[in-house]
Amino acid sequence: MSAPTPEPTDNVSEPGVTSGLVCGHHHLYSALARGMPAPPRTPHNFQEILELVWWRLDCALDLDMIRWSAMLGALEALERGTTAIVDHHASPNAIEGSLSVIADACAEVGVRASCCYEVTDRNGPDGMRAGLAENERFLRSGGRGFVGAHACFTLSQSSLEAVVGLASDLGKGVHIHVAEDRVDSAAGERLEALTTDDWLLAHCVHLDRPLRGTVAHNPRSNMNNAVGYARPQRLGNTVVLGTDGIGGDMLEEFRIAYVRHREDDVTATPVDAWSWLESGRILVPEAAEDRVRWSYDPIDPWHLAFTPGVRPVEVVVAGEVVLQDGRPTRVDAPEIRARAREQAKRLWARL
Ligand SMILES: [Zn+2]
Repeated sequence: MSAPTPEPTDNVSEPGVTSGLVCGHHHLYSALARGMPAPPRTPHNFQEILELVWWRLDCALDLDMIRWSAMLGALEALERGTTAIVDHHASPNAIEGSLSVIADACAEVGVRASCCYEVTDRNGPDGMRAGLAENERFLRSGGRGFVGAHACFTLSQSSLEAVVGLASDLGKGVHIHVAEDRVDSAAGERLEALTTDDWLLAHCVHLDRPLRGTVAHNPRSNMNNAVGYARPQRLGNTVVLGTDGIGGDMLEEFRIAYVRHREDDVTATPVDAWSWLESGRILVPEAAEDRVRWSYDPIDPWHLAFTPGVRPVEVVVAGEVVLQDGRPTRVDAPEIRARAREQAKRLWARL
């Protein structure tokens, strides 16, 4: 199989400076979830975590909540030197226009975004069609992103084919969760004949065969959902790192990726996890032109794997200083946090 070759990613030679970091799999809508009321009962497996937490939360989202969760998520990413976010969105009762709301919020903060809407059958045929239509509306209007799909286990064969058909018509890849848990272990068989090199395959923990595309590894989320270790290099694909919605701090995700790798293999070094972090820039190549000046030098995998709390001092995106002395220049951070808190209260009241 032919994984795309990573671009030369960091061409920066200045001490303590890197290109922009990329979050290769995010769910910005989850920014308002922290501290939410406990589910009606304790989930005992991945399917129950979806049913009792995430599928209740995403059904309660409206466009105002989506806007302020994206503003907060983009702010938190920028504050950690992440200049590009590859987002995977779901809001079954506020689908139309949702991707533009997210893209606009990221642009306002000064962070690059690649968006998609997760097509699924879990909300019936009308919900499936509305999700497909939102991908098409956004991408045809010039939006940047993928055609989104939830996961094979919530998609009929005809829905999956509709996703693949739209992606092919638009010349885009598909961004989909793949075998995140055993419940989706048939994904490899169902996707084998469909994937192309421009697909983004999130998780792949239980994937049983090679597929074409880039693998987005989300080590902390996988641990948090107790789905197992992905061993992301075993299939031979290019690997990038994502947070799966747990913030936008990619240096922290790198550290977790390394230590999870090391837990599995005592000969593992931080160089592999660092290469996954850098490969994120194949998803948003312009991030290689962004500049992040860090509070720490040297920028070296062995140093950074064991140095928590390293933070950006200045971030330049597309030639514009968007973070100075650790503070955003385009938006007011306390204001965003206050508005997001208001929206979180509205959201939680609906649960
Ligand atoms: Zn995800």
